[in-house]
Amino acid sequence: MVPRLSATVVGGGIAGLASALSLARAGWQATVLERAPDFGEVGAGVAIPRNGMAALRALGFDDDAIGALGHETLGTGFQDLHGRWLLRIPDDRADVRWTTTIWGVHRERLHAALRHAAEAAGVDLVTGAQATAVRPGAADGEPAEVTWRTAVGERTAESDLVVGADGMWSAVRTQVFPAARPRYSGSTSWRAVIPDTTFDGRLIELWGPGAEFGTLRLSETEVYWYGYFQHPEGSSFDDELAAARARFAGWAPQVVALIEATDPSRLMRHDVYHLPGGLPAFTQGRVVMVGDAAHAALPTMGQGAATALEDAACLGPLIAAPVQAGAALAPALAAFDAARRPRTRAIARQAVRMARFGADLGGGWRQSLRNGFLRAIPGGAVARAGGSIVRWTPPGTVGSR
Ligand SMILES: Cc1cc2nc3c(=O)[nH]c(=O)nc-3n(C[C@H](O)[C@H](O)[C@H](O)COP(=O)(O)OP(=O)(O)OC[C@H]3O[C@@H](n4cnc5c(N)ncnc54)[C@H](O)[C@@H]3O)c2cc1C
Repeated sequence: MVPRLSATVVGGGIAGLASALSLARAGWQATVLERAPDFGEVGAGVAIPRNGMAALRALGFDDDAIGALGHETLGTGFQDLHGRWLLRIPDDRADVRWTTTIWGVHRERLHAALRHAAEAAGVDLVTGAQATAVRPGAADGEPAEVTWRTAVGERTAESDLVVGADGMWSAVRTQVFPAARPRYSGSTSWRAVIPDTTFDGRLIELWGPGAEFGTLRLSETEVYWYGYFQHPEGSSFDDELAAARARFAGWAPQVVALIEATDPSRLMRHDVYHLPGGLPAFTQGRVVMVGDAAHAALPTMGQGAATALEDAACLGPLIAAPVQAGAALAPALAAFDAARRPRTRAIARQAVRMARFGADLGGGWRQSLRNGFLRAIPGGAVARAGGSIVRWTPPGTVGSR
């Protein structure tokens, strides 16, 4: 019998906690290194489509746990900036509803649920631990090694596997794939969760020149909004809420009302980056890359968290379980790469196309042309075409729910 194998997971975000949970469920001893002094998630809402929920189920979350995480609703299509429908997805057909079902989830709740599940599965969670160096080792030979900085000095540990789950600015990626660098998308995004019980809870997205505004209910009492717009990298506003008000002035009344109802202390803004060329591989030596560290995509497909959860749900059945049972690591890593890289690359490319057609499109005739085109095509057909992404099944399962 193979002794209990060990993994060091760098990064305690959604990808890292879910990955550690997946490894622990397959019998591995997993340790998460998180550079922040506390485990926590600053963030607003996240739209999790059906494939993300399939991944959560594969990680052991049952219907009750998923129900407690967020609000199940539907994606509705797109409106122009005045709130007039450009493309409306019908909600009276079961096949279309299946594809457009989406869960509005508060990131803090998702993060906490993953942390509790990881702890319950025996994962070691270490905070204040910033990974600074990684030696990938060899899949069929020497162990991998991670060095990290703590308040009291530096530490180094060997393990059978290192999971690079340290997000957009991944230190693991910088060491293992130094040529891959994030690039500014040209857009930045305000995000906020506001108390609300009356707003339409469905995912509604409005497109205007160089900008997009979206709303989604997260619970009976919370609505999430985001305002994504083209803006120079790294700039700041003296008053972010006033700037949001000004940027979206003249948009549909619900947009103006949501911004108006926002507590300035709850408003956040992040410049949006992505990894345009992807990575040449998701594995090297004994290192495997997951989440934004592996495949950061523009948020225009709403698939970042969902694909991070998919990565995690694949780690257990494709790598951890077979290797713990005695299989060689190299083919298991190759199977993970083959399952994850083409899919996430295709989603990232689709997110770029979506941005060009949606939020990044300039004003004037371009808007009229795009809007006229969208009004002419049937929403049901568009939803069914988009179904190929959400119709994902975790390895080892038969059909998605
Ligand atoms: C504006 C915007 C809107 C979005 N909307 C959606 C959406 O609707 N749906 C969706 O699915 N996705 C969405 N996303 C994407 C989603 O948020 C990300 O894809 C997802 O959070 C990635 O999770 P992660 O764990 O890979 O990375 P992160 O959440 O960045 O976590 C990385 C963790 O690693 C830690 N870390 C970093 N470096 C080190 C180090 N050297 N040592 C130790 N720890 C380290 C960090 O502190 C952090 O905790 C959106 C993104 C943006 C920017």
